[in-house]
Amino acid sequence: MKRILVTGGAGFIGSHLCERLLNEGNDVICLDNFFTGSKQNILHLLPNPHFELVRHDVTSPYYAEVDQIYNLACPASPVHYQYNAIKTIKTSVMGAIHMLGLAKRVKATVLQASTSEVYGDPQVHPQREDYWGHVNPIGIRSCYDEGKRCAETLFMDYHNQNNVNIKIIRIFNTYGPRMHPNDGRVVSNFIVQALQNKDITIYGDGSQTRSFQYVDDLLEGMIRMMNSEKSFLGPVNIGNPGEFTILELAQKVIALTGSSSKITFQPLPQDDPMQRKPDISLAQEKLNNWTPTIGLDAGLVKTIEYFKQII
Ligand code: NAD
Ligand code: UDP
Repeated sequence: MKRILVTGGAGFIGSHLCERLLNEGNDVICLDNFFTGSKQNILHLLPNPHFELVRHDVTSPYYAEVDQIYNLACPASPVHYQYNAIKTIKTSVMGAIHMLGLAKRVKATVLQASTSEVYGDPQVHPQREDYWGHVNPIGIRSCYDEGKRCAETLFMDYHNQNNVNIKIIRIFNTYGPRMHPNDGRVVSNFIVQALQNKDITIYGDGSQTRSFQYVDDLLEGMIRMMNSEKSFLGPVNIGNPGEFTILELAQKVIALTGSSSKITFQPLPQDDPMQRKPDISLAQEKLNNWTPTIGLDAGLVKTIEYFKQII
């Protein structure tokens, strides 16, 4: 049994991760400030004696004797991370410093939930880990993109300077049950709109692409990375290479929900990346042939079922 800290553990991905780590027989501390996460996501875990919930903000230091740390604390939806941009960058940078400091002190392995956003609006397609990215340092997405880039730098420097055991994964757009209905990201927005027969809001002309990964595939990659050989630090892409336009996604959601929603077009936000698709050959090579197994249609069906129950 390992003692594992999950920051951002009451969020969408974090709550699934806590559940899976508990099911694998670990002792789990879930740390969250409930900015975008909720107690509802982890309510079912509270009776488990191996589960602890701590209300805490990662911009302040935190101490606990643990073997592993998954650092997920950070709002992930553009709407939420732009709501308080300064807080977002503090969360990424100070959160990384505090978790790296803790890992150093207790000799834990610490994994950073980085993002495909470090590639910005990429000029290389698909994106490999050795691509440095194309990021606006002063735009509306910068608090998130640059915060995550700085966190990657800190992880590497703590490893090089202090020999901290680190792992970095770059997560591509992930969706599934427990996304917040008002989260603002495209999959939850479209499903909620379709189930309520409201207009589907496409930003821009819908020709921009994303590669959508179901949450269970991410968890498998993330846990394999945490437990991979010590010398493999990443960064490693964890995403589903299936690439779809946002218009295709809207059409799929309408078909799978049987909705009478109409598609509407709204202005494209500043710096919205035009294309995104992971090259996952490094993950396949280093993480025991890890490959996503849940295609977009199957994942959408599961996610639609969840939203039907809660709205
Ligand atoms: P989410 O918003 O549901 O979860 C983030 C969690 O972090 C929430 O529970 C929130 O309350 C908590 N949090 C935010 N600021 C905090 C702070 N200062 N102190 C403590 N807790 C704080 O988002 P998610 O989709 O579950 O994302 C989890 C992580 O994965 C994030 O770090 C995100 O950047 C990363 N990520 C997610 C995706 C994706 O597509 N879902 C893609 C790339 C990276
Ligand atoms: N998007 C959209 N309608 C929405 C929400 C998002 O067309 O209601 C678009 C958004 O402009 C972007 C893509 O969908 O091009 C993915 O957006 P999301 O916020 O989910 O993630 P990110 O842009 O961070 O990849």
